[in-house]
Amino acid sequence: MQTLAELLQASAALHSHLCPRQVLGVRMGLLAGRLLELELPRTDKRLLAIIETDGCAADGITVATGCRIGKRTMRFEDRGKVAATFVDTHTERAVRIAPRSESRALAQEYAPDAANHWQAQLAAYQEIPNPLLFVWQPVALTTAVQTLVGAEGVRVQCDVCGEEIINGRQVAHQDRIVCRSCAGDVYYLALPAVTLSPTPGTTI
Ligand SMILES: [Zn+2]
Ligand SMILES: [Zn+2]
Repeated sequence: MQTLAELLQASAALHSHLCPRQVLGVRMGLLAGRLLELELPRTDKRLLAIIETDGCAADGITVATGCRIGKRTMRFEDRGKVAATFVDTHTERAVRIAPRSESRALAQEYAPDAANHWQAQLAAYQEIPNPLLFVWQPVALTTAVQTLVGAEGVRVQCDVCGEEIINGRQVAHQDRIVCRSCAGDVYYLALPAVTLSPTPGTTI
């Protein structure tokens, strides 16, 4: 098993520098491994991390756990919180871990000589014991793990736009099998193609 220092080095390499929230992410991941009694980092898909914010902590969690978007073992539920739920997909045991609200103030106590708050957090988050740094609780997911992960290998075509839909993300809508976008669950509105026209004289 890699040490905290080694993991922080790997996280910093991924992130281009080390910052306090990466330390939190690495430590949350390590703590999840201990609570769920799983060897880390995972090379399989047994552990699923559901992160509640994007950004620095996610990189720390990835390095500590092996969970990442590209492996389909990390999901993003944007709540703007440095918190994450870790799920053992074999047993469906799950634990949510979040930093304690006092962790920032505590960092000052652990690193009184630090040049600033940021440096204090960077140093202290590596030292503060888990029970003082984090709060955690067992949780049950409101969506079955199997539904969250989706049906891997399934591939259908949307009856409306014709685009391919993988992992069982199609929905039934007005007697058709369609993608979520065609069912009205949209995150973009199409604009006239002319708004993407290349500068005259150039080609795409
Ligand atoms: Zn950062
Ligand atoms: Zn569609």
